[in-house]
Amino acid sequence: MALIVQKYGGTSVGNPDRIKNVASRVAQHRAKGDQIVVVVSAMSGVTDGLIKLAKEIMPLPSEREMDMLLSTGEQTTIALTAMALHALNVPAASLTGAQAGIVTDGGHTKAKIANITPNEVHKLLNAGNVVIVAGFQGMTAEGQITTLGRGGSDLTAIALAAALKADLCQIYTDVDGVYTTDPRIVPNAKKLAEISYDEMLELASLGAKVMQSRSVEFAKKFGVVFEVRSSLNDNPGTLVKEETANMESVVIRGVALDKNQAKITLAHVPDKPGVAARIFKAIGEASINVDMIVQTASHGASGATDISFTTDKADLLKTRKVLEAIQGEVGFKEAIADEKIGKLSIVGVGMRSHTGVAAKMFETLAHAGINIDMISTSEIKISVVINLDKGEAAVKAVHAAFLG
Ligand code: ADP
Ligand code: ASP
Ligand code: MG
Repeated sequence: MALIVQKYGGTSVGNPDRIKNVASRVAQHRAKGDQIVVVVSAMSGVTDGLIKLAKEIMPLPSEREMDMLLSTGEQTTIALTAMALHALNVPAASLTGAQAGIVTDGGHTKAKIANITPNEVHKLLNAGNVVIVAGFQGMTAEGQITTLGRGGSDLTAIALAAALKADLCQIYTDVDGVYTTDPRIVPNAKKLAEISYDEMLELASLGAKVMQSRSVEFAKKFGVVFEVRSSLNDNPGTLVKEETANMESVVIRGVALDKNQAKITLAHVPDKPGVAARIFKAIGEASINVDMIVQTASHGASGATDISFTTDKADLLKTRKVLEAIQGEVGFKEAIADEKIGKLSIVGVGMRSHTGVAAKMFETLAHAGINIDMISTSEIKISVVINLDKGEAAVKAVHAAFLG
């Protein structure tokens, strides 16, 4: 008898028929004799809808109250999924993240899992139930409800699989695996049979929303091998696992586009030691993640520079508040935000041993008439910031050049 963790995302539980479909798939699997823990997301659109509601009340709501609000999305789905299993005469019980023993730190809206004590899950499984756990949520040791960041149900599934020492972790979604790029942008993108943790992590953190990046980080750390598959068919999916020797023979594994970044430019920043440290310390203390940072050369006699950086669009308002608070002390002239940017990236462990990759990417973009605004590279990725309107055209051109 195997213990399996299956996660079903928002589209897969998007309406009553889809929930019934999930229940019948789970029931069929259980009939083979396995124990099953099902992690579900909120029904598609629900989390976005709740965020919109909150913003109608006030632009920057308390993060504690946001967690209280957003956790209700998943709580709805667990109950409905348990009912759908009952309707098929399958014993099932739902648990919130807290009831499943998921303890987090106090970082509201992006909490980190501190530990999991899944006693209740074991108890219910041993009594013959399918256990349905609410994704995306946990509770602090002090009893505060938290959420794990957008897409966080993936993290719930992977962390539970590790804590339960599950035999298999399956992420069921609305595509049948991880592709060389988003198949909604490039219909001839190819499905990958397997991908290394590092490549999946880069693709996910660079915008491939098929997996939440923190969940991949967790899987790598605890060696949780998982597969990404479709909840609507039985096609073989993509296995995400440790890198193997032959993986480096492929130069580029995938292309990602992140449309959720914004660029902030601080104009006329005094060019003296300690200024960048002051700015990014304040931003870091507000739990705002910064990605690319570019500083221009000093403007001649004025001794001032411009500093640009990118961050999540969702953190823009918070970032503005932090910058307003330190503007006087730091002495920059103004903070200009640009939300119309896209970050295009290519990823592959093969880049370590192949040269000329950046040149080929930049040439491809030049031929397509797409201007590059910022560049950053690491051992296994190259990212560029471009105009958002050119984002999809850029993905198509770069995918055709490297993977087409
Ligand atoms: P879920 O609700 O199941 O968590 P998501 O919407 O979060 O699903 O993620 C699935 C979506 O990710 C797909 O519909 C697809 O458009 C998108 N996606 C982006 N990049 C990729 C990629 N490289 N491979 C597969 N899907 C991708
Ligand atoms: N419902 C949450 C979100 O939309 C978590 C998830 O879907 O994984 O971000
Ligand atoms: Mg998701």
